[in-house]
Amino acid sequence: FVHWPFRSSLKKVNWVQLAGHKGSFKSAEGGTILKKLSDNERRCFEKLQEDSLLSFIPQYHGVVEKDGQCFLHMSDLLLPFDQPNVMDCKMGVRTYLEEELVRAREHPRPREDLYKKMVEVDREAPTAEEHSQVAVTKPRYMQWRETLSSTHTLGYRIEGIKKSDGTCRTDFKKTRLQQDIIKVFQDFVGGNIDIMQSYLSRLAEIQLALSKSYFFKQHEVIGSSLLFLHDISGKAQVWMIDFGKTTALAEGQLLHNVPWQEGNREDGYLWGLQNLIHTIEAAKES
Ligand code: ATP
Ligand code: MG
Ligand code: MG
Repeated sequence: FVHWPFRSSLKKVNWVQLAGHKGSFKSAEGGTILKKLSDNERRCFEKLQEDSLLSFIPQYHGVVEKDGQCFLHMSDLLLPFDQPNVMDCKMGVRTYLEEELVRAREHPRPREDLYKKMVEVDREAPTAEEHSQVAVTKPRYMQWRETLSSTHTLGYRIEGIKKSDGTCRTDFKKTRLQQDIIKVFQDFVGGNIDIMQSYLSRLAEIQLALSKSYFFKQHEVIGSSLLFLHDISGKAQVWMIDFGKTTALAEGQLLHNVPWQEGNREDGYLWGLQNLIHTIEAAKES
């Protein structure tokens, strides 16, 4: 491990974190950050060093240890921006692994806490049986939760947005309709057509890189995001982040644009990306 003189936490004015636990990130020297290590994500970063996706992910500087904890050391994507606007868009038609669904089924005991979470969002969501038991099972809860947002219907969802004026929103869990996402997106870019065009060009580059990527063919890409960044200068970039749940296939390859059926491990990433591009095109034209 490399030891490095870190500052203890990310108190930099610029820093914005739109997902994950606040304690998972620390700032480091020279415009870099640390993310709490997962071996799975480390393996992905290592394999990506040889892949066509390399120019679309944060620069990776290896694993480092700090205060007895291990971290992935990577570039801070916010660094080139002056008061950036940031949007985290989580890709795919599901955000849990098939393996997690299988594990949840091993404990089929109906749970009252999950029932409560469900009715808090939608009184009508539980079935008659679930209402009478005052409980739902974990796999049922996991699958239901995904139908609230655009994850199921469009293959992506907005996780959070922070604008340069300081406003921050992460309440998109029930934002499902394309027409609503168009409005959110137009507000995010302040109606700026040039920025929307820059985003579209960058997404087209990512699409092309994905089509050539060996890594992408060989992995179930779950819970990964596209991070959108722009500022007042007109600079606009999109980056692929978060490979914590990106899992290698033992055999075979994924198409990423066919429906998921349990067992086929398809993630709908390319389908979601195409839908996202259509959404931004619609936002640009209206
Ligand atoms: P979750 O799995 O809940 O999405 P996580 O702990 O895996 O969270 P990430 O999704 O990787 O964490 O990152 C969380 C947030 O931190 C992102 O939404 C983004 O705002 C910010 N972030 C992550 N990596 C970078 C980076 N390299 N540069 C700048 N910001 C980043
Ligand atoms: Mg994430
Ligand atoms: Mg993650």
